[in-house]
Amino acid sequence: MKFLEKNKRVVYVDYNATAPLRPEAKSAIIEVLGNPGNPSSVHSMGRQAKNVIERSRSQISEFIGAGQENVVFTSGGTEADILALKGSNCSSILISSIEHDAVLGAVPEANRIKVSENGLLDIEHLKSLLKEALKPTLISVMWANNETGVIQPIEAVRNLASEFDALVHVDAVQALGKLPINFLNSGIDMLSISAHKIGGPTGIGALIIREDLSLEPIMVGGGQERGKRSGTENLAGIAGFGAAAEACSRQEDADKKIVHLRNHFEKAIITKVPSAKIIAQKEKRLDNTSAIFMPGLNAETQVMAFDLEGIAVSAGAACSSGKVKQSHVLKAMNLPDELINNTIRISFGWQNSEEDVNRLIEVWLKIYQDSN
Ligand code: PLP
Repeated sequence: MKFLEKNKRVVYVDYNATAPLRPEAKSAIIEVLGNPGNPSSVHSMGRQAKNVIERSRSQISEFIGAGQENVVFTSGGTEADILALKGSNCSSILISSIEHDAVLGAVPEANRIKVSENGLLDIEHLKSLLKEALKPTLISVMWANNETGVIQPIEAVRNLASEFDALVHVDAVQALGKLPINFLNSGIDMLSISAHKIGGPTGIGALIIREDLSLEPIMVGGGQERGKRSGTENLAGIAGFGAAAEACSRQEDADKKIVHLRNHFEKAIITKVPSAKIIAQKEKRLDNTSAIFMPGLNAETQVMAFDLEGIAVSAGAACSSGKVKQSHVLKAMNLPDELINNTIRISFGWQNSEEDVNRLIEVWLKIYQDSN
């Protein structure tokens, strides 16, 4: 209660960091909390817990066009990425240079595929790396980038992978709920997703795995999740994830509103300050994301100035310490230092209103004018 009161006037435009918990997810979590029930127990309480998990598995598989047998619950997107990259035991791994730290950290030795100055995967470079790669080969490319929103050419990656007989892992953590996903039709071998980006709780995610793919578990023990991920399941998290996925699948109207808000924001700023810049504006981007350069003020100072005005935004990449480091994504795009240092990420979501965006525009212009 205190938290809500304190944050009543905050304009939250940092959905790519985490989205507010959806009411449907909150109810589902509360419903299972406090019920003793280990899904592996044979008694009725155990069976009830198991039903919660299977219901959620079915909600999620329906949402992403997968079979229930494809869904392996993990502790989040990070673990899903690590399981895919380490568990597939490939001799060479090719990743894009704009992947999330979860991927970069899991396989620091991986070959990096270049991106264009608009943050789009360089397919020709991928092809040349594939020609040299040892077999079996795994390609890991994110569906959409968390900082710029740029949507990657997944179908072209899949086609090249078929040509070179390589496996494909896609980090779809930011794409989930923002782009239509059909796992079985996509031809992708493994897909990472996470609940908290779509209004589910933090600490729960899943790796979606092609059924006949052999994958070595990272977490070993009791053999849960058909032996692919041991450990007593996060029942409340799983219940919340399923409910969020189902709620998300009914949100088409919200999607239209979000793109309108984002475009309104970008147009207003560029009209008033033509020297501002939207990163990768001409590329296909997620409808909710805007990476915006403010001339003359570094990202860290901008984030603090917005915070003082009650607006929650992000500098491209924040470490867990809260410190801001230079964005490896913008660096990989070979942008000039000034653009890299002065760009923040604004990411909208279903709870944002026209009023929020007007306040955001007003504050953006105020911070710009005060510093120039
Ligand atoms: N992959 C991408 C693209 C992300 O944006 C994130 C979270 O920011 C992750 C992976 C990690 O997901 P989680 O926070 O669930 O571990």
